[in-house]
Formats: sequence, C-alpha cells, structure tokens
Amino acid sequence: MNDVLVLAEHLNGELKDVTFEMLAHARGVADASGTKVAAVLLGSGVGDLAERLAQQADEVLVRDHDGFAHYNSAVYQPVLADVIRGREPSVVMIGHTAFGVDLAPSLAVALDAPLASDVIDLAVEGSDLVGTRQTYGGKVNERVGFGGAAISLVTVRPAAFAPEEASRGGSVVALDTEVPDEPAFRRFVEYVEAAAGEVDITKSDVVIAIGRGIKEEENMPLITGLAELLGGVVACSRPVVDAGWLPKDRQVGSSGKTVKPKLYVAIGVSGQFQHVAGMKSAETIVAINKDPKAPIFQAAHYGIVGDLMKVVPALTEKITELRA
Ligand SMILES: Cc1cc2nc3c(=O)[nH]c(=O)nc-3n(C[C@H](O)[C@H](O)[C@H](O)COP(=O)(O)OP(=O)(O)OC[C@H]3O[C@@H](n4cnc5c(N)ncnc54)[C@H](O)[C@@H]3O)c2cc1C
Repeated sequence: MNDVLVLAEHLNGELKDVTFEMLAHARGVADASGTKVAAVLLGSGVGDLAERLAQQADEVLVRDHDGFAHYNSAVYQPVLADVIRGREPSVVMIGHTAFGVDLAPSLAVALDAPLASDVIDLAVEGSDLVGTRQTYGGKVNERVGFGGAAISLVTVRPAAFAPEEASRGGSVVALDTEVPDEPAFRRFVEYVEAAAGEVDITKSDVVIAIGRGIKEEENMPLITGLAELLGGVVACSRPVVDAGWLPKDRQVGSSGKTVKPKLYVAIGVSGQFQHVAGMKSAETIVAINKDPKAPIFQAAHYGIVGDLMKVVPALTEKITELRA
C-alpha cells in the first residue's frame, strides 16, 4: 500500500476537529500497512495550520494561494486531483461534512476512483482496504471493499474516531500546483455566520438533551429545572427543533452541533446515529427512555428505563435533597 492522505478542513483560521480525528485513524491504517500519513492543506496564509498538522502527520503538503481564501469546491477539486495523481496515495480521507460531501463525489469522478461515503471505520485486511458504513438508520453495519483500486476515497463521519495528541514533527512541503480561477458558474459570494444563540451548548460541562419523548412544549420546565439544578444547558434532538420548541443552535447531531461535555443526559431521545454522532464523546452519558431497546442505551454509560414524566421529577427531587 501507498500513503494515507488526509485532507485538512479548516475555517476562519482553525482546523476542524474531524481533521485530527482522521489523522489519528490514518495513523493506525498506515502503521498496519507500513506506510506514512500525509496531510494536504489548501488555503491562503495557512503557515500556522501547516505547522500544527505537522505534529500529527509525517508530511504536510501545502498549497498556499489567494485562490483558496474562501472554500469553493470548483477550485479545490482540480488542484486536489492533481496532487493526488502526483502522490498516488492508496487512500484519501475527507471529512463527511458539508465541505466533504460537496467535494468528494466530483473528486472521485475526476480520478475515476471508488468512493465510500460516511465511513465509521477503515481497516487494512491482508492487502485490502475495508471500510465500514451504516445503513438502515444505523441498525446495520456494512463492510465495503474498493475492488483493489490503486487510489480509493472515503468520507469519514465526524466524531467516529478519537483524536490523539502527537508531536511528530513531520515535514512541511510547499506545493506549486496551478490554481485555477473561480469558474463563472460557481463563485464564492459571502460567508454567512449562523446567528449566535444565547447559549453555546458546545461550551457547557453539563448538557441535558431532550427528544421527541418530551411530547409537549409545556413539559419543558421539567427539563429546564433539572438543567438549572445541575448548572447545565438544554440541548435537543432534531424533532424538537422541527417542532419549534428550541432553536436550531441547540440541536445535537450530524446536522447540528457536536458536544463533548462532562455529563450528557439524554431524556426521551431514541439515539439514532445522527444524534449519537454529536454526543458520543461526552465523558459520562446518562439516558432516560421508556423503551429498554432504544439505541441510546448502547451509547449510554448509565441508563434509566422509565417514563420521563416520573423519572425526571424524582431525579430532580433527589438531587435537590442531596444538595441540601
Ligand atoms: C440527514 C439527516 C440528518 C439528521 N440530523 C440529525 C441531528 O443532527 N440530530 C438529531 O437529533 N437527529 C437528526 N436526524 C434525525 C434522526 O434520524 C432521528 O429522527 C432523531 O434523532 C430522532 O429524534 P428523537 O430521538 O427525539 O425522536 P424519536 O426517534 O421519536 O424518539 C423518541 C424517544 O422517546 C422515547 N419516549 C417517548 N415517550 C417517553 C416517555 N414518556 N419517557 C421516556 N422516554 C420516552 C421513545 O421510546 C423514543 O426512544 C437527522 C436525520 C437525517 C435524515
């Protein structure tokens, strides 16, 4: 096998978590196949980011150019295709993010390479690369092969792998690959920052998340009371946002936010993988659900099977008593 190449994703001068998660897993794949981990970084004024990446990768390939001041897949794609053709890595890892799902399919077509999307694992078995993806709402894991292709592409689900601290001191290599102008059919217009809510659920040590099991907006005070008592914030699953009970910036999951609090309490949340993707790295997860087979119990460290309308008041009362 050849190297494992990780595409670094960054925004506003910061590398995204998924980049470090991919680098950590790439290390395992590279070690298993006796190869190296390379990162590719496209950006404008990204010297600092390259140094940061060099702590985790054996080599960082950097194309620093004004044309990358803003993300545009129509500019990224031909440059990346050139870099990949030149390096011939065995596998290219790209985050399964808005950025990655925009870029990876057209890149795979340009390279005539197989692409497995949203993988949660990537392993070397003998001389073969095997990816794992989930289907049927996370009920089934499927193993995918790449037909022995020379170059394969995967998009990697955020939070599927834990990042690792490392201080490798890899080399930084400046590339001079030609960067095309933005095509007329696809231009960067402006970056619109999501409206900042009153609460940043990613910053709190305690997150109390509610799901559809809460049933009525009128039941919310039950939850806000518990959150206040524990000094936490209230977050939610997507149906709660869809119902308009909480704003979008409280949603946890693959299309919401990723949180890593010390304590995550999931109340009336079934635990579909789209939700779990955003909270599974929490230090301690407690789930309250009336269905003992709810998938959230697979992610939880502690589970309470019961009606939240009874469990939450009892829990609140007990904590109040202990605090007193
Ligand atoms: C592309 C895509 C992206 C998505 N992104 C996200 C995302 O970012 N975040 C997200 O959360 N979802 C996301 N979803 C939706 C996701 O698939 C699930 O539909 C959603 O997470 C389910 O929310 P829920 O657990 O609140 O509701 P449900 O699945 O309806 O579960 C409700 C749970 O409450 C329990 N319950 C009911 N009554 C009680 C009671 N009285 N006491 C205790 N328990 C009770 C039930 O047993 C059940 O387990 C996404 C879906 C798609 C297709």
